[in-house]
Amino acid sequence: MPAIGYVNGKFGPLEEAVVSVEDRGFQFGDGVYEVIRTYGGRPFHLDAHLARLERSAKAIGLALPQSIEAWRGLVEEGLRLAALPESKVYLQVTRGAAPRDHRFPPSTSPTTVMTIRAMHPVEPALRESGVEAATAEDQRWGRCDIKSVNLLPNVLVRQAALERGAFEAILVRDGEVTEGAVSNVMIVRGGIVQTAPEGPRILSGVTRSLVLDLARSLGRVRERAVTVEELYAADEVFLTGTTIEILPVVRIDGRAIGAGVPGAVTKSLYGLFQRLVR
Ligand code: PLP
Repeated sequence: MPAIGYVNGKFGPLEEAVVSVEDRGFQFGDGVYEVIRTYGGRPFHLDAHLARLERSAKAIGLALPQSIEAWRGLVEEGLRLAALPESKVYLQVTRGAAPRDHRFPPSTSPTTVMTIRAMHPVEPALRESGVEAATAEDQRWGRCDIKSVNLLPNVLVRQAALERGAFEAILVRDGEVTEGAVSNVMIVRGGIVQTAPEGPRILSGVTRSLVLDLARSLGRVRERAVTVEELYAADEVFLTGTTIEILPVVRIDGRAIGAGVPGAVTKSLYGLFQRLVR
């Protein structure tokens, strides 16, 4: 099967996977999700993603209909059915389908969705040249640590960045860099890798935490708020995320970062990351 869908217990072709128009994910954005990718056909850090799914669901008062063990089995089964060389797995759980009412429905079971499609990695040329980013005001809510399907602010800033010829939007709240629309943001200054601390202002990225561990093995790391001025003045800036891995940023708002080419620390981290995923 080239791309598959799963809805509430049933696998099938992706185009046949449908949910009710009364689903609360559709009407209220009342749900949580995860994106996982494979390397060598195996899901990468599946347990960390499932743990975050569980944390996100708990934070919105949603009891997951499956155990972590059952989720792991479902993902494995989906990957087996799809039989793709490399896959991108999307998991979503919503509070279910019920007549539209803000109150939690008393007896509705959650809707569980999974899609599995071919994973297309970032073009090597883009990784080599580095990408451009554009800053934008972070207008999201106060619980960005929850991986909720409410992504409208992320959609709008990413679209605006793309229309300006940039790859990613870098979000700024009260003069401080929080994260990207679809990534975490790190800077390097004087050899020290710096990034916003975990907390309600950012999503605690699975890749973020792996990259910080790698950076610790190379030198110093500081998890602290980085200002926009520090972002512009950084020696290097890079993005982290499941599908983009570690992606150098060489221009922000039209200004060159460092020498305007991917920096040495970013390249070393990417080398270490490649060893980790193989
Ligand atoms: N921050 C946001 C807002 C994201 O949407 C994502 C990934 O989708 C990330 C950070 C990176 O998280 P991860 O490394 O777990 O993919």
